[in-house]
Amino acid sequence: MIISVASGKGGTGKTTVAVNLALSLPNVQVLDCDVEEPNSHIFLKPKIEGTKPAHTLIPKVNYDSCDYCGKCASACEYNAIVVLPKRVMVFPELCHGCGLCSMVCPQDAISEDPREIGVIKKGKSGDGSIDLVYGVLNIGEVMATPLIDQVKEEIDPEKTVIIDVPPGTACPVIAAVQGSDYCILVTEPTPFGLYDLRLAVEVLRVLKIPFGVVINKAGIGDRKVYDYCEEEGIPILLEIAYDKMIARWYSEGVPFVDAMPEWKERFAGIIGIYRTTRLHKINTEERK
Ligand code: SF4
Ligand code: SF4
Repeated sequence: MIISVASGKGGTGKTTVAVNLALSLPNVQVLDCDVEEPNSHIFLKPKIEGTKPAHTLIPKVNYDSCDYCGKCASACEYNAIVVLPKRVMVFPELCHGCGLCSMVCPQDAISEDPREIGVIKKGKSGDGSIDLVYGVLNIGEVMATPLIDQVKEEIDPEKTVIIDVPPGTACPVIAAVQGSDYCILVTEPTPFGLYDLRLAVEVLRVLKIPFGVVINKAGIGDRKVYDYCEEEGIPILLEIAYDKMIARWYSEGVPFVDAMPEWKERFAGIIGIYRTTRLHKINTEERK
């Protein structure tokens, strides 16, 4: 089972939910795909067992074969390759490494060179109970998606996989969340929280991934997130009240289920809600 934990904006408590959920379930692997700012390791304190570089491929032109026809530039959706009268320019920071330019080149003049974009680290949490894989994007690097794809290649199908998704609703989010059995959307009960929640819901509906909402910092703001969830038939999986102690443990890198173990049952209950919803859906569909 793959569960992703996402939020329409940063700072809502997405990593808090991912880590505390992981600590509440047996046989878990955490993939931190928030590669621009991975934080799960701060709470899980892994012993790192391996680090490997992550690459993307960028085109390299053989000028002995190139006739400057321009087909590579026309094919590139990202304007990452430009053909001038006697020169082909590649912009590595725009290149998604899709390989299309080399496929369309009639002269077979394009080969691909690896370009390092970050690293992937693997380890086990301090007590050895959780496998952790996380990507770290190089500073200044913008190509998060290929690194996220490579982190996801490490998925262990024998485990319950929890994916910490980057914040927002852009391409890296889609790369991280795709293939999930369920997505937990973390939000705050504020107008900003509601705005970003709506965007995230739209994305998940397009991707056809079932989802529910965890409301963090419950008690601040207003009731509009609750009203929205009710109107849209979105299950509220858990509420985490705004609590100075939780904020303090967070700032000290302590997952709050370690300090308040009674919360483990509540987090584990999220999976129960998912299974019941799924069973209900299957039963309802079978009856049709
Ligand atoms: S498609 Fe191939 S031959 Fe044409 S400009 Fe690009 S690299 Fe050169
Ligand atoms: S690999 Fe893809 S993104 Fe990069 S230059 Fe070629 S077509 Fe454009």
